[in-house]
Amino acid sequence: MHRIQVKKGDVILSDKEIGEYAYIVESGKVAVTDRASSLGSYTLGPGDMFGEYGLIEEATHYSTAVAAEDSLLVVISQSDIEEKSAIADPLLSLFLDFFMDRCHNLTLKHYGTDEQIQTFSSRRHHREKRLQTSSEELVQRFKIKDELQAALENSEFELFFQPIISLRGGFTSGFEALIRWNHPEKGLLTPYHFIDMAEQTDMIGEIGNWVFKDACLKAKEFNDQASKLRSPEVFVSVNISAKQFSEPDLVERFKTIARETDVKPDHVELEITESILMADTNGAKEMLQELKKFGFKIVLDDFGTGYSSLSYLHKFPIDKLKIDRSFTHAMLDDQDSQEIVRAIAGLSHNMNLEIVAEGIETMEQLSLYRDLDCHFGQGYLISKPLPIDQVYQILGTRMSFGEAK
Ligand code: C2E
Ligand code: CA
Ligand code: CA
Repeated sequence: MHRIQVKKGDVILSDKEIGEYAYIVESGKVAVTDRASSLGSYTLGPGDMFGEYGLIEEATHYSTAVAAEDSLLVVISQSDIEEKSAIADPLLSLFLDFFMDRCHNLTLKHYGTDEQIQTFSSRRHHREKRLQTSSEELVQRFKIKDELQAALENSEFELFFQPIISLRGGFTSGFEALIRWNHPEKGLLTPYHFIDMAEQTDMIGEIGNWVFKDACLKAKEFNDQASKLRSPEVFVSVNISAKQFSEPDLVERFKTIARETDVKPDHVELEITESILMADTNGAKEMLQELKKFGFKIVLDDFGTGYSSLSYLHKFPIDKLKIDRSFTHAMLDDQDSQEIVRAIAGLSHNMNLEIVAEGIETMEQLSLYRDLDCHFGQGYLISKPLPIDQVYQILGTRMSFGEAK
C-alpha cells in the first residue's frame, strides 16, 4: 500500500482499462462516472473507496474517476490483498478467494468482452487451485477438531511427568506435565503430532483445562505421598499455550480448579512462552499478576530462543526461567552459546530468578550447569517423561552427582 497525490482534473482511472489498484480517498474529492452502478455519476470524499474492480485480476474498470479537487489517495494493489490474505485466518482467506472468484465471473459475464471471458489468467488459475486446497484443509480441520473432542470425551489424553531435580542436592524437586494422546489407531502420540492442530482448531482451551485439572490432581497426590514418605514437597509444572491467554476467564477457571482439587497453589507452576508477553493484547500482564497473587509460580519456558527481551523479566511477574534445550545441546562445543548461558545464569542470580536447565543429556552438560550454580535440571540423563505409575518410584529419590565431578 502506498499513497499518491493527485491534482484537480487528473484522471485516476478510466472505463475499460485493465485495473490493478483500488483507491481510498484520504483527503479531497473524486468524481466517478460508473457504468456498473445504478448511481451513474457521484462524488466521493474522505474514507470512500473506488476502483475496486482493479483488485479483481484482469478485470477492466467499469468507471472513470477524475480528481474533483487536489486529493490524497491510498493505493491498494492486488498483491497487497494477496499478502494480507495469506496471513489471515484460513477461513477469511477462503471466503475472500471465493468471493473474488464469484465477482470475477459475474463481472465478466455482464460486462466482459468475449476475449476476456476466454482468457484464464495465471493469477486466477492460481487462486482457483488455492481455493480448492483451502476448502480441503478446512474440511480436514473439522475432522481433526472432532477427533480431538472425541479424544477428550473418551479419556485418550494422558499426562506424562518428567522429573526436575535440584542441581544442588540432587533431590527430585518437581515434574513437568507433558501431554500424550493414546490414539486408538496410531498409538501413543507426542504433542508434536497434535498440539498445533489443537491450537488452530480452538480445542486448546478445553484440552488445556483438562491438562491443568489433571496436573493439579496429580500435584496434590504426589505431595500427599511425599509427606507420607517424609520427603521434600514437589511442584508440577504445566505448559500453557499462548492461545489460552485469550480466554478472559482463564484466571478464575484456574483458581476454581485449584480449589476443587485441593492442591496448594505453590505446588503448581505455569510454563508460558514469550509470545504471551510480546502480544500482551488481552492484558496478559494482569492475568499473570492475578495468577501469581493466588500462589501459582510463573515460569518462562524456552528462554533464549525467541526475542528474549530482558525487559520482560522486569515487567512481568516471572519466578523462573527455563533455559532452552538448544543451548544445553550447543554450549559445550559452541562458545557463543556457552556465553549466553553464563549471562542468563548471572542475570538470574542478580534478579533472584530461579533457573531450570532443560534437555540435559550428558554428565558434562550437568556439570557445567552445576558449576554455573543453576538451580534445577531436567533432561533424558536424569529421566525421560514417565507415565504416572512410574512417578511414584521416583518420588523422594535423589540423584548422586559423585561421578560428575
Ligand atoms: P517443552 O515445553 O519444551 O517440553 C519439553 C520437551 O522436551 C518435551 O517434549 C520433553 O519430552 C523433551 N525433552 C525432555 N528432556 C529432553 C532431552 O534431554 N533431550 C531432548 N531432545 N528432549 C527432551 P514433548 O513431551 O514431546 O513436548 C513437546 C512440546 O509440546 C513441549 O515442549 C510443549 O511446548 C508442548 N506441550 C507438551 N505438553 C503440553 C500441554 O499439556 N499443553 C500445551 N499447550 N503444550 C504442551
Ligand atoms: Ca515446557
Ligand atoms: Ca521448553
